[in-house]
Amino acid sequence: MSLPFLELEGGRSEIPVHSIFITHHSIIFIHLLQNLHTHSRFSDGSHEPADYISEAINQGLSILGFSDHSPVPFKNTFALREEELTLYGETIKNLQSRYSGSRTEKTESLLFSEITILLGLEIDFIPGITRSFAEYRQLLPLDYTIGSVHLVTNSDPSHLWFIDGPDMAIYDQGLKEVFNGDIRKAVTAYYRQIQEMVALHKPDIVGHLDKVKMYNRDRYFSEEESWYVRLVEETLDQIEKTGCVVEVNTRGIYKKRSDSLFPGPAILKKLHTRKIPVTLSSDAHKPHELTMLFTETADLLYGMGFRELMHLTPAGWNIVSLKNLFSCLK
Ligand SMILES: [Zn+2]
Ligand SMILES: [Zn+2]
Repeated sequence: MSLPFLELEGGRSEIPVHSIFITHHSIIFIHLLQNLHTHSRFSDGSHEPADYISEAINQGLSILGFSDHSPVPFKNTFALREEELTLYGETIKNLQSRYSGSRTEKTESLLFSEITILLGLEIDFIPGITRSFAEYRQLLPLDYTIGSVHLVTNSDPSHLWFIDGPDMAIYDQGLKEVFNGDIRKAVTAYYRQIQEMVALHKPDIVGHLDKVKMYNRDRYFSEEESWYVRLVEETLDQIEKTGCVVEVNTRGIYKKRSDSLFPGPAILKKLHTRKIPVTLSSDAHKPHELTMLFTETADLLYGMGFRELMHLTPAGWNIVSLKNLFSCLK
């Protein structure tokens, strides 16, 4: 993505124009382009965290948040290994301080910041199996948490329905084995698990809200069926009550595993009507995926009536105008 750069006396600045805001007295940074959903080699991402940072700077991101998968207490290929949890936190925090070092550098009225790094964690919630979010907040100096459900339980914790990953056959097999092929029971368990996670653990962000639809592809149910719509409404009630931000996640589309965003248009409309705040994320597992489909998604959200996105900064959540975001995406 090419970005306009600020022309300064004595040469071109390396600061993308979208990162600054000029007042009468000074230039202050505003953070427009960010991605808070990123997986590095610490979980199922491809590269070291530093590789994502250099690519993020290339792509014009002002803030990059790492959100590797929290450990789960069984054999798997996607989550952080328990023994690397502390190293993960230290690595990201070291990178955070390395990059924030330049933030206070002052050139007359110009404040320079290449990028801000945040430490997050995408925490799996499986009742009776996973650690509480509070425990993770104690174990790591987290800047934020993403709460996600990838594995659905039907009361027997030794049998879990895996709704994610690259293989549709695993979804079908799990549905059969864990829920006897009863899709309504299975999808109900999925949304109830999200509701419980939101109520008990209050994640800052709810990850890929309707991912359970990914391998449905209209084979088992229609998202317009009243029981499904009711489950979504109940879940949004809980999210609204708790005050979580919902992510608009582009991964399903660019991986060609879903025809629509997570969540899809019908749920996005409900989020807009209810004024539930949203953030835009790519769920990147490779550096080049960091801002994938951001332009198209910002466009779609604008067309649906959204005018604002939530952006996380070291000082907390900020509201960013979608119009301003356009100017740095186009
Ligand atoms: Zn996820
Ligand atoms: Zn993820």
